[in-house]
Amino acid sequence: MVAPDDQELFETEASWSDAHGALLCLHTGDWRTERPVFDNDKCNACGFCYIYCPPQCVVDDEDGIHYKADLDYCKGCGVCARECPKGAITMAPEGDYSDACPA
Ligand code: SF4
Ligand code: SF4
Repeated sequence: MVAPDDQELFETEASWSDAHGALLCLHTGDWRTERPVFDNDKCNACGFCYIYCPPQCVVDDEDGIHYKADLDYCKGCGVCARECPKGAITMAPEGDYSDACPA
């Protein structure tokens, strides 16, 4: 894929694997109403959430095995939760985390 200014937008044709830097431009976390909560005890590290997340904001967890959402860019669509084969992702109301909201 070639951008209008003739610069390569993606390094390969697998846009889902390259899109992270190019497409994460909207801080959708500002208006999200639900967030995905990952249960690492249920997770088998299959990576489906990483693959299916539309804006590619599922990232490696600190343990290097599991995954988490980059909440600056997660829009709360719930696709990761629906695709997870282990039921390891639960969508939780953003209001449950209201203390984390900026004043
Ligand atoms: S809720 Fe949607 S945007 Fe957020 S991590 Fe899951 S798939 Fe990605
Ligand atoms: S889809 Fe579910 S089981 Fe697979 S890596 Fe993501 S959280 Fe873990």
